[in-house]
Amino acid sequence: MVDLTQVVIIGAGFAGVACARRLATDPRVRVTIVDRNGYHQFQPLLYQIATAELAPRDIRFDLDAMFTRHATVQARTGEVVEIDPRARSVRLADGGTLTADVLVLGAGAQPNFFHTPGAEQHAVPLYSLGDAERVRGRILELFRDTAAKPELAEDGTLTFVVVGGGPTGVETAGALAEIVHDVMPHVYPHLAIAGARVVLVDLGHTVLTAFSDDAHSYAVEQLRRRGVELRLGVSVKEVTPEEVTLGDGSRIRTRLVVWGGGQMAAPVAFRSGLPQGRGGRIDVRPDLTVPGFENVYALGDVANIPGADGEALPQLGSVAQQAGDWAAGNIIADLEGGQRQPFHYRDKGIMAMIGRKAAVAEIGPHRHELKGRFAFAAWLGVHAQLLANAGAEMRAFVSWLDDFYVRPAHRSAELLDPATIDRPRIRWEGTHDGTEHTG
Ligand SMILES: Cc1cc2nc3c(=O)[nH]c(=O)nc-3n(C[C@H](O)[C@H](O)[C@H](O)COP(=O)(O)OP(=O)(O)OC[C@H]3O[C@@H](n4cnc5c(N)ncnc54)[C@H](O)[C@@H]3O)c2cc1C
Repeated sequence: MVDLTQVVIIGAGFAGVACARRLATDPRVRVTIVDRNGYHQFQPLLYQIATAELAPRDIRFDLDAMFTRHATVQARTGEVVEIDPRARSVRLADGGTLTADVLVLGAGAQPNFFHTPGAEQHAVPLYSLGDAERVRGRILELFRDTAAKPELAEDGTLTFVVVGGGPTGVETAGALAEIVHDVMPHVYPHLAIAGARVVLVDLGHTVLTAFSDDAHSYAVEQLRRRGVELRLGVSVKEVTPEEVTLGDGSRIRTRLVVWGGGQMAAPVAFRSGLPQGRGGRIDVRPDLTVPGFENVYALGDVANIPGADGEALPQLGSVAQQAGDWAAGNIIADLEGGQRQPFHYRDKGIMAMIGRKAAVAEIGPHRHELKGRFAFAAWLGVHAQLLANAGAEMRAFVSWLDDFYVRPAHRSAELLDPATIDRPRIRWEGTHDGTEHTG
């Protein structure tokens, strides 16, 4: 029986925040939650930031504010650069060290470019607010510059490529199609936008492979209806600043490639000395601790968490959030001299939103299939709950929902203003004599 437990949580994603919130209810526990950003970002709404539907402030929740009423939880901004699981200590980039009785690793994921030449340098993933802002900035910049110099369109300035046909790629392609085909024609009425393209590339022969065949056909039809071109059954061989080369030798001229092609464990997992399994993720036992390290937990996207069938659970917000809460329960059980319990995931199902009124959902452990408005309603329910559980405000979500459903082509002028882009990124000199392309 232990009197007071110090817990250090690495990462304030769904897993870390849920763990800290539950531990905050026990006065015998002191928590330090460290995140390199100092805020929680709501990843499921990142592509709404990328396509100017929401402002960054709408999905960014300051940790100090989130835990202000919890005196036992200290939020710290810092990048963890090294973990010593035996000593249960972490080293921060600023030179600081934190030591604890229990370490909780919830550092999430990073994109996996699968060694595709040029992808890491020239494609933009969608994992952080910074990534989403880069995508938005690039879209605005490309439209602004092409409006000023329409011949740029011949160089693919209005061709947008999304790599990956999983939920992130499909949702991003659907949202891009809406801004490109429905919103931008109002902003630049004199620009010949008819030639604008959104192309989705995937090596598989369909999209949303984790879903049923019925959902595949529905998603394909909905994407095509929104003007998304599908290049399926073909790999991406190379990405350069000006084009994407596919496995069949064809090339797509483009100035924006969004990478939704896969993910692996966050970099810090590779510097933790902990046993890594598939995707570099840390394999954990049913009670969510790492084998050989009784007081080190790994949760959410950084971990391979075994489900009821022994297979690893998918990388989902609800898995991470429930695991965070469960790990906290096991930490508290130790304090009380009780038994740790094996994680039991309450399966909400899988879902993806393709665009307004178009979504697919397979609900619950029996995968009850829904499409269209009903699936959209299910998506809303699950995400509203994720937001609320993270302790985030619902105001922005509700207002986005209103715009999304009722005024699809509406965007705030602020979010469409190219002047809000951090800095100009593309230098066009020489584009048409082939001497220089991008900066
Ligand atoms: C674009 C996109 C859309 C998605 N849509 C959905 C969806 O619709 N529904 C759904 O259920 N799931 C969705 N997901 C998946 C879901 O967001 C993840 O499964 C979930 O965020 C995982 O939670 P986590 O706590 O493990 O990690 P994360 O939420 O990724 O949090 C990890 C945290 O760790 C911090 N961190 C990382 N490394 C360090 C370090 N070295 N030092 C300090 N801090 C560090 C990061 O800053 C971050 O805050 C989506 C993911 C993406 C990328």
